[in-house]
Amino acid sequence: MMTKNVRVRFAPSPTGPLHIGGVRTALYNYLFARKHGGSIILRIEDTDQKRLVEGAEAYITEALSWAGISFDEGVREGGAHKPYKQSERCHIYRKYVDLMLENGTAYYAFDTPEELEKLREAFNKEKKVFQYDINTRSLCRNSLNMSEAELQTLLEKKVPHVIRVKIPENKEVVVNDLIRGQVKVKSDMLDDKVLMKADGLPTYHLANVVDDYLMKITHVIRGEEWLPSAPLHVLLYHFLGCADSMPEFAHLPLILKPEGHGKLSKRDGDKHGFPVFPLNWKDPLSGEVSAGYRESGYIPEAFVNMLALLGWNPGDENEIFSMQELIESFSLDRVNKAGAKFNPEKNKWFNQQYLRKLSEEELVADLKKILSDKGVDVSEDVLKKTCSLYKERVSFVHEIASEAFFVFKAPDVYDEKVLHKKCKPEAPSLLESIRLLLNQNTSWDAVSLKKAVDDWMTSEQIPAGKIMLPLRLALVGSLKGPDLFDIMELLSKEETLSRIDKFLPVIKQAKRTD
Ligand code: GLU
Repeated sequence: MMTKNVRVRFAPSPTGPLHIGGVRTALYNYLFARKHGGSIILRIEDTDQKRLVEGAEAYITEALSWAGISFDEGVREGGAHKPYKQSERCHIYRKYVDLMLENGTAYYAFDTPEELEKLREAFNKEKKVFQYDINTRSLCRNSLNMSEAELQTLLEKKVPHVIRVKIPENKEVVVNDLIRGQVKVKSDMLDDKVLMKADGLPTYHLANVVDDYLMKITHVIRGEEWLPSAPLHVLLYHFLGCADSMPEFAHLPLILKPEGHGKLSKRDGDKHGFPVFPLNWKDPLSGEVSAGYRESGYIPEAFVNMLALLGWNPGDENEIFSMQELIESFSLDRVNKAGAKFNPEKNKWFNQQYLRKLSEEELVADLKKILSDKGVDVSEDVLKKTCSLYKERVSFVHEIASEAFFVFKAPDVYDEKVLHKKCKPEAPSLLESIRLLLNQNTSWDAVSLKKAVDDWMTSEQIPAGKIMLPLRLALVGSLKGPDLFDIMELLSKEETLSRIDKFLPVIKQAKRTD
């Protein structure tokens, strides 16, 4: 049982579209908050103004709301700790960096980009990598290497400078991670990261820690890529004198490529033809469009279900979870340490399961929308019947639209191969006979139709293939589709006969090559 009032946050940077890994992070935060009756906050981390991408913030909010992930506090929701956008909080951070300058855990650094580049080159020559840290800071132009008077002159002259954290020597920094256990790092490995840039804006590290502290965040649940930053964050809590309020950390495993090694990237999606973004994203500069789950026909509940299981396991065989069931079952100790292999086929399977659960009305409405976008207008009755016939055969509603397209529009072309190679010489006359038979049928349902045709084939000793094949070609245009009698029922008597009539001259003229 959680004793503290759980407060978690999802803190994306609007530097591009949200990758599905980001949505999963938001989801786990959401599940955790809801499970413990806590709050979830959406904080926009936009202090790196150079990397901002137009439309990214709106994309993030839209994607999260499509996935059904709601927030208690945030840019749109407001809340006691507003503003929730870091660019509007810039006045807050200075105080904290000043505190660190005063207690000696941060220092001014005046090195120009050129000076730093020179150092880098010199290190490179000796096959070493330059890092601004315990060992190199004495070589640099910073307040640790100058008198107080010198420092004051530079500050008065407004010489451009940054503020860096002073990583202590020879300390063991311990990150208690709820998924990984204790992660220990020697402080000498860490670099003196910039906390405040020359433009007076905080870097991610400072703003992130200060905001987590001020927003009373109890659990930081985020992607594994932030684990290397966690020791610095732990140190910052100590340096800011708020170690008592340090949140607990949980670093989520990576989502891996379908092959199982390396982080899933946009390129994998492009290569294999599956989306890695929740919604379509149009790059504002190149105009390039990347596919999204929403536009690819995924049902949001299916998307959430498959994401939840990418890195978390419920401890039993169950795979289908509603959001409410996820909230009830979720726990951080069932989040795996190892990366989760992405499985695009399994994602389709999830969608199929949810498609089958859709009500007739929902299915019909979705199909109607897709068809009307294609300029096809179909009666409600036909839509209903088509959906019930196809529901179990497809993974997406758009597949009903494409696979059952022949239902909505009579074929204009017929599969050439079948027409010329597979139809027997007697096919036209058999079709004429079956047309007569069907015309006599008064009850137009699949069962009666099947019985009438079966009886006729038995009495006339006609092998099924000889007649069913050309009949299917007449009605569908190819050999695809569900049971022919179901198709006839769906099409109606009038339409079935008219399709046979339309096809008869075609098959009569077909030059058979068998
Ligand atoms: N702004 C960071 C990001 O873009 C947040 C990382 C964190 O959750 O601490 O993912």
